[in-house]
Amino acid sequence: MPFSDFHGNPDVVRTIREMLARDRFPHAVILSGPPGSGKFTLAQMIAKTMNCLERPTNDGLPDFCGRCANCVRIAEADNLEERFAEAVEARENLRDADKRETRILVQTHPDVMIIPPDPPQMLVKVDQVRHVIGEIYYRPSEGREGVYIFSDADFMKEAANSLLKVLEEPPDFATIFLLTDNPSALLPTIRSRCITLRLTPLSPAEVEDYLAETRPELKPRERGLVARLCGGGLGRARSFNLEHYLAARHDALALLAPAMGARDHSDLFKVTESYRAGADGKSKMDSTIRVLYSLLEDLLFVKSGTPEMVRNQDMLAELKRMAEQVNFDWIVSATQRLGELESGMRRNLLRSLALDSFSAALEKA
Ligand SMILES: [Zn+2]
Repeated sequence: MPFSDFHGNPDVVRTIREMLARDRFPHAVILSGPPGSGKFTLAQMIAKTMNCLERPTNDGLPDFCGRCANCVRIAEADNLEERFAEAVEARENLRDADKRETRILVQTHPDVMIIPPDPPQMLVKVDQVRHVIGEIYYRPSEGREGVYIFSDADFMKEAANSLLKVLEEPPDFATIFLLTDNPSALLPTIRSRCITLRLTPLSPAEVEDYLAETRPELKPRERGLVARLCGGGLGRARSFNLEHYLAARHDALALLAPAMGARDHSDLFKVTESYRAGADGKSKMDSTIRVLYSLLEDLLFVKSGTPEMVRNQDMLAELKRMAEQVNFDWIVSATQRLGELESGMRRNLLRSLALDSFSAALEKA
């Protein structure tokens, strides 16, 4: 899987490969971009290129072979979610005393270390950074460059301060990647010591092309819809469950119906009744809340005369009808109510009742 398989952001990829060609790759890089834009995939590709034993050149720029011993071992971490789950499970099976001292790391090649946020808080902890400090000043053993990838650069305070020390004096033979969808959440002192490369979300057309290759079971119309609904994230597009989404949207529309002038509430009650306690009910509720946000956003796009921004493109005509029933103030207050519904769920309010009163409040608003 060479660089040509990376989807989107061709300019950023080119810049990266030019830096690699000149052997001038910065020692600390923030790779920022929305979820699914390929930050981790790209960092892995760079790690492979830095350490590839074949070092092929494509289009005049460095690439990786994907077949040599280094490429193959680094690629074992390509599926980070699986490796992460294994590391967490391995820790779960330890004795309590060891569990506390074990931090989650993923390392399938001696010179490439991935540091995911540590559960349950899902933050990078100081012990993880200390582990990096303990390794980073040793020369790579089997490759040319030590690579340290913080797959989600969300640090506990002490961990961030500890990282700063390495960033002040990184060794020549190591590169640190900080992957984040929100670079402004990093300490300014960290940001100023790194080069920031920004990945932008892919356009719906780029995502559609990708889906045509990877999910041939989707019909062209469905591809178009998924491309818009996933907001330019390939990771999301790959796993997007359209059937699931449409079921949640059916419920969301039933909740909005009274506010749009529907007199018959029997469908609404049938829907809200189906939201039960327990984990199933929670994930159903979460999906419905997300869909409600996207519908309200779409109504706003229609109202402000930018229907091309609408994500639920397949129901544009219906959204236009709905938009005629409400004004801007309604959309604003509906969004606020939705926020209240969301925080009510965190306080474990009864789901069906909370949905009923949410729908009733929108009708009156
Ligand atoms: Zn290789």
